Amino acid sequence: MPTIDGDRLLKDQRALADFGRWKTGVHRPTLSPQDMESRKWLASRMTEAGLDAEIDGIANVIGRSKVSGPHLLIGSHTDTQPYAGWLDGAMGVIYGLEIARAFGADGTCRQFGIDVASWADEEGHFGNLLGSRSFCDSLPQTEVDACRHRDEGTPLRTALAAVGLADKPRSKLEPGHYVGYLEAHIEQGPKLEASGLRIGIVTGIVGHCNFNIMFEGEQNHAGTTPMALRKDAGVALIKLAAAILKRFPEVAGPESVWTIGKITLDPGFKSIIPGRADMLFQFRDVDANVLKGMRRALDELVQEANAGPCKATLVLGPQTAPATMAPRFQDALERAAERHAPGKHIRMPSGAGHDAQILAARLPSAMMFVPSIGGISHHHSENTKDEDLVLGCQVLATAAELILRGA
Ligand SMILES: [Zn+2]
Repeated sequence: MPTIDGDRLLKDQRALADFGRWKTGVHRPTLSPQDMESRKWLASRMTEAGLDAEIDGIANVIGRSKVSGPHLLIGSHTDTQPYAGWLDGAMGVIYGLEIARAFGADGTCRQFGIDVASWADEEGHFGNLLGSRSFCDSLPQTEVDACRHRDEGTPLRTALAAVGLADKPRSKLEPGHYVGYLEAHIEQGPKLEASGLRIGIVTGIVGHCNFNIMFEGEQNHAGTTPMALRKDAGVALIKLAAAILKRFPEVAGPESVWTIGKITLDPGFKSIIPGRADMLFQFRDVDANVLKGMRRALDELVQEANAGPCKATLVLGPQTAPATMAPRFQDALERAAERHAPGKHIRMPSGAGHDAQILAARLPSAMMFVPSIGGISHHHSENTKDEDLVLGCQVLATAAELILRGA
């Protein structure tokens, strides 16, 4: 069995957090100087681990095993949200590095190849899951040409040229090369810790549907317009919001979530009846049929809202499909978890998006979670107990062996 070195794992985990360290967390946006420094450091660690390492034309760092036997790809991302945590993404990449080393040092596993990837821009500074999509051939060059930094507006191509990657080719997944893909990640939620559990085996990654719901009424004087004659877009919006909150529990699944993220009343003054109102609405679930049911319910409620004095329009925003994790890989993770943490694991969906949802379209893929202290993530206080970091890596290593042996 490949045995990971917990001290070496934690040392590398902490070394990576030095790039862009901010308070107790990390600020490492995609293609920033600290992000590029961390990629070069990671590539050098991969080389020391015996892998062929490269930084490709979209800034993916990929370390390839030189052995000829079956290969498994393990990865996540090392870019971060602004001024955020040290483990989101980074943990899964260092797990891959440590597991590659553990396999290389284990006489019974040397025939197996562990390749390691840090996918560029998972956090969406320039686009949507750019690195993993590029690798999986679902990122057209026209999109690369159109991407700009979400805050500064810098074109992605300018940013890639500035760090010397403009002329580098983008690495692509070779069909048939991998048995599959594994990704470990912090849970970023409270469920594992609250239940006293240590390992989450991800069943699927939720898909999400986003909408802008617009109401057009009639802007008028808030003192002289009788209530019966008003076309108050704000009231129409609030009624629909209340109807959604009442109806959705009836059509949703047990793990569904829905959120009204923003409400805007226009023009937004106390003595003016709003002539227009907008609401950003999102829902997520791991089951495509549940998503369809929620969509049907939303369509009906918007239609009913149109029977009132204001016109309601549903505008479709970005949608992502849910991704199912390979059942055989889930079983391997469960067996490995049972071996190292008996009774302390659970199968659960991922409410957040991850690179594994992109890889899952091309390769059998699976994900594993470790607990987040206090359920906190995307904040500099994000953390996981050292013993959970070490345990998670060993569980993933054991699962990788089970998968590669076809056991
Ligand atoms: Zn992440």
